[in-house]
Amino acid sequence: MSTVDPARSRQPLVATVRDKPLTSARIITLIAIVVPPLALLSVTGLLWGVAVGPIDLIMFAVMYVFCGLGITIGFHRLFSHRAFKTTRFMTAFWAIAGSMACQGPVTQWVTDHRKHHALSDKEGDPHSPHHGFGPGWKGVVKGLWHAQVGWLLTTKGLERGERYGKDLYADPLIRRIDRLYLLWLGLSLGIPALVGFAWSGGSVWMAFQCFIWAGLLRVFVFDHLTWSVNSICHMYGRRDYATDDESRNFWPLAIPVFGEAWHNNHHAFPGSARHGLHWKQIDLSWALIYGMEKVGLVWDVKVPTEERQELRKAKGEAAPGGAAPADPA
Ligand SMILES: [Zn+2]
Ligand SMILES: [Zn+2]
Repeated sequence: MSTVDPARSRQPLVATVRDKPLTSARIITLIAIVVPPLALLSVTGLLWGVAVGPIDLIMFAVMYVFCGLGITIGFHRLFSHRAFKTTRFMTAFWAIAGSMACQGPVTQWVTDHRKHHALSDKEGDPHSPHHGFGPGWKGVVKGLWHAQVGWLLTTKGLERGERYGKDLYADPLIRRIDRLYLLWLGLSLGIPALVGFAWSGGSVWMAFQCFIWAGLLRVFVFDHLTWSVNSICHMYGRRDYATDDESRNFWPLAIPVFGEAWHNNHHAFPGSARHGLHWKQIDLSWALIYGMEKVGLVWDVKVPTEERQELRKAKGEAAPGGAAPADPA
């Protein structure tokens, strides 16, 4: 249910199967968030010095940040929403970094994501937890499952780009990077193995160990946290702005997904390079974009003015004419 008062806003209402998330759904969601990292930490503790060492964790962090920002700054804010402009070199850099997160080639990721914004929580949205899953707790569980991972096997990549990805399909540089997708996957998993091998002075076992921790496990952790934005951030959290979907700001995810969990802000202002719009809302992707702008690596950085933000406040205190229209995706 949208919290927008229909009498005071021009935002269209979208029918959903329930008024608010069920308590059982919130518990399931929290378990889904908390258990995997705790399990990972306890395994790390148990196996410390036996099957994990400093280089595994250093490479985990390095690859997590590099590939993660490739998704948040590159695939999302640059390619999907054109929230800033940059050089061709940086365009290639961000496309490759994002490809190494193992979430699919850039054209497919962007096409799915723009479709999500165009049809958000309506029929055709590739990963809404709300549409078509029936009432009650079973509908909640099915919806969360679909938005987290089910869509990867059912609705991912259904568009071929004519409608949502034309600009990228028309760019020879992007197409070339797309065609080399398997190479980027190989580097994403192979670099940790190579570093582990070199660090240990040629141990194949250490290469394997670093491949497991900084390759496979790092991909698993980051990708699940990103997909949690699709599921949790359309189900649970604050709605600071009026939008015609179920997007929400869920603060516990904000740091591990580099600011993407300010998802209600993002649906209110899709074209904004900054998602954490309040100084308390930590947004590491924005911090880096801001820094790149200061040194001239990026320009035409889009951020909504305070006046526009006020117009979209969720209380429906819209200026004459109702809530401001959404940015283009
Ligand atoms: Zn969304
Ligand atoms: Zn987006």
